[in-house]
Amino acid sequence: MSASRTRLCSDGPEFSRLVMGTWRLVDDPVLSSQEILSLVEECVDLGITTFDEADIYGNYSSEESFGKALNLNSSIKHKIEVITKCGIKLISDKRPSHKVKHYDTTRSHIISSVENSLKVMGVDHIDLLLIHRPDPLMNPDEIAEAFSLLNDHGKVFHFGVSNFTVRQFELLQSRLSMPLVTNQIELSLLYRDLMLDGSVDYLMQLKKSPMAWSPFGGGGLFHRDTENEELHRVLDELSKKYDDAGYDQLALAWLYHHPASIFPILGTKKIERVRAAVESEDIHITREEWYKLWVAAGGLIP
Ligand code: NAP
Repeated sequence: MSASRTRLCSDGPEFSRLVMGTWRLVDDPVLSSQEILSLVEECVDLGITTFDEADIYGNYSSEESFGKALNLNSSIKHKIEVITKCGIKLISDKRPSHKVKHYDTTRSHIISSVENSLKVMGVDHIDLLLIHRPDPLMNPDEIAEAFSLLNDHGKVFHFGVSNFTVRQFELLQSRLSMPLVTNQIELSLLYRDLMLDGSVDYLMQLKKSPMAWSPFGGGGLFHRDTENEELHRVLDELSKKYDDAGYDQLALAWLYHHPASIFPILGTKKIERVRAAVESEDIHITREEWYKLWVAAGGLIP
């Protein structure tokens, strides 16, 4: 049992189809460096080699914790791909100069953010750098300069965006000398809007895969509340058909069924849940079941 691998697009990086997110890595229960390393090693054994970081995760501490873990077994660095993000400035004791939460996509901020990410993670390059959120003050020419410089110096291999609209994606791409390889967006049974507003369609038109963050709605999928009642009823029904598949596995199968070749990003720290996620690649729901879940989750069929 191993996660499959594929390219985000023809001129993009090859990643594991399932990506391991690190946003919650430093949340309680706090893992030691050895525990993080074990998680990384077990993921690699399962074929999950791609890790999704951001400068701001864990109040600017996740990249450092990840880097400390990797340093316990430096050879693992050659077996993984690292994604990180920049462009958000949080108010934080780690960044006393930030007085206001804001976006910063200036050339100097992008470059200094990447240099810090490389340093704290102890890696010599970033496989994919994403602009974390659209910045109303985005100057695409400045971003283009920063991306070219980082690429020329071998510090970043590929570039993309996150949470961008189609127009924002087009604007930035129009000034770049390299392709934007993905848009990392929120996509799940619980958040379907971007399957209808053109975001996913546009990526399909470009033959680029979306990366899906919060594929289980940040854990909301598992909450036993009235809002989820009908969805849980259908999930229970499908679970019986698909060998007692878990809600997580069926939610991933639902994303996989979409023709956009979505790359889900996992948010769990529990290896048994990662293993279940890998197994979900073998669950092939039908078109009717896909729509049954869509409607049960609150989606409309006009
Ligand atoms: P998620 O998978 O939707 O939610 C993770 C939460 O669900 C965790 O609290 C996890 O708890 C729980 N969970 C997972 N499987 C479960 C199961 N079988 N039963 C019960 N609970 C379960 O993903 P996410 O953490 O919100 O996001 C995933 C990744 O996406 C992040 O790590 C980050 O890399 C990326 N992200 C990107 C953006 C962006 O703007 N680009 C925004 C948000 C997130 P346990 O740990 O207990 O399993």
